[in-house]
Amino acid sequence: MPPLQSNYWLTTTSMPAGSTGEVPSSADVAVIGAGFTGLSAARVLGKHGAKVVVLESNTIGWGASSRNGGMVLTGVKLSPQTLAERYGMDTARRMHRASLSSIDLVEQIVREENIDCNFSRCGHLEVAWKPSHFDSYARAAEFMASEFCHRLEVIPRNQLTEEIGSSLYFGGILDKTSAGANPARYVAGLASAALRAGAEIYENAGVRQIEPATRGTDQGFAVRTDRGRLFVRDVLVATSGYTTAVTKNLQKKVIPIGSFIIATERLSDSLARELSPRNRMIFDSKHFLHYYRLTPDHRLLFGGRAAFFPETKNTIGRSARILRRDMVEVFPQLRDTPIEYAWGGTLDFCFDTMPHAGVIDGIHFALGYAGHGVAMATYLGSKMAERILGSREEIPYATIPFPGAPLRSYHGRPWFLGFAAAYYKVLDWIS
Ligand SMILES: Cc1cc2nc3c(=O)[nH]c(=O)nc-3n(C[C@H](O)[C@H](O)[C@H](O)COP(=O)(O)OP(=O)(O)OC[C@H]3O[C@@H](n4cnc5c(N)ncnc54)[C@H](O)[C@@H]3O)c2cc1C
Repeated sequence: MPPLQSNYWLTTTSMPAGSTGEVPSSADVAVIGAGFTGLSAARVLGKHGAKVVVLESNTIGWGASSRNGGMVLTGVKLSPQTLAERYGMDTARRMHRASLSSIDLVEQIVREENIDCNFSRCGHLEVAWKPSHFDSYARAAEFMASEFCHRLEVIPRNQLTEEIGSSLYFGGILDKTSAGANPARYVAGLASAALRAGAEIYENAGVRQIEPATRGTDQGFAVRTDRGRLFVRDVLVATSGYTTAVTKNLQKKVIPIGSFIIATERLSDSLARELSPRNRMIFDSKHFLHYYRLTPDHRLLFGGRAAFFPETKNTIGRSARILRRDMVEVFPQLRDTPIEYAWGGTLDFCFDTMPHAGVIDGIHFALGYAGHGVAMATYLGSKMAERILGSREEIPYATIPFPGAPLRSYHGRPWFLGFAAAYYKVLDWIS
């Protein structure tokens, strides 16, 4: 029996090896963080002939990119209606198109780079936790069809058993464009692709300081790392929920929030089919939501924001117990099924719950995926790389305001998470 506190996905692959020794004294671009954002950017930069060095504090894929649910989802965390109200219909449409392109990009990379990560367009299903949530699905489907030409299917409660082996929900809404993948295999494949494109990846090379600098006539940045110093023309920060005070002005805009996952033992084929007959990526309609899916070898992977605080031995243990209880509430069939894996990771929420990309203090960045990062991180990493290479193509998430904390009350330590968790629990109760 494997140790309970470990990440199931990591048992299905191994990461490629990074470079050994000191970092080179100079490069065109330093990418900070070896997850989907950083590796996708490094792949594009390398393919265009730039000398790119990826600097990673831990190991390749160590962050959220190897720890997530592997749901490759359309849209962003906020609903299209909210995007339209907040940014106007034109911008909302561009954002929606970008989200569809982001899934196409993952599919294209998987095909071109021959990444064996079980990518499949299996669709995602949101299930209604309350009757009022189900009532909103018809309006959402109508809005998506008329304003975005995007088809969603509303599944009434009496047909839900064709989609899920649970009687807990009041209906569902299905988006067949979304996909599923094994995220650890995908991030490993992305790293191999970046290496083949000529990028160098340095592990255990935490960045300690970034300062504007000049070398001869070149303007750029001096980057101090745990494995030496280098001068680069451009920096791309791809540190997501693990952003530190090295980039203080970004850290102040990102709230790190824990999310946790358990995985059962392998289920029989008939039980797996009963729980998820069409192998969808599933999540519920709560604020404090649960997300779940089958793994390719037929385990149920069940996740949620059980603890809110980022992962530690304690939060993982506590979350695993809460998640197990919640999983059995959804699927009483799993009452006696052992849990073999439990792990956690850190999500990156911005104060407006939106992804953002752009330049801050002369440094490029992309983050804020709020649990929708598999496709969007791949996309924004690649778009920011193209921008560094000189592209002026519009990126919808780079044109919106990037708010910080209200009243400048936040400097990177999320003291309010306990209150936020309580607030969302109350919202789930009353709304
Ligand atoms: C439990 C969980 C479940 C999720 N489920 C889904 C899902 O099903 N679908 C979905 O779309 N999204 C999901 N997400 C979100 C998704 O995983 C992330 O949005 C995405 O992986 C972010 O990728 P990234 O490359 O930007 O960051 P990460 O993969 O987090 O990588 C950031 C890296 O930066 C490194 N770093 C930080 N500071 C420094 C420094 N100073 N120097 C060097 N390196 C540094 C870190 O070590 C880390 O490896 C989930 C996330 C979690 C945690």
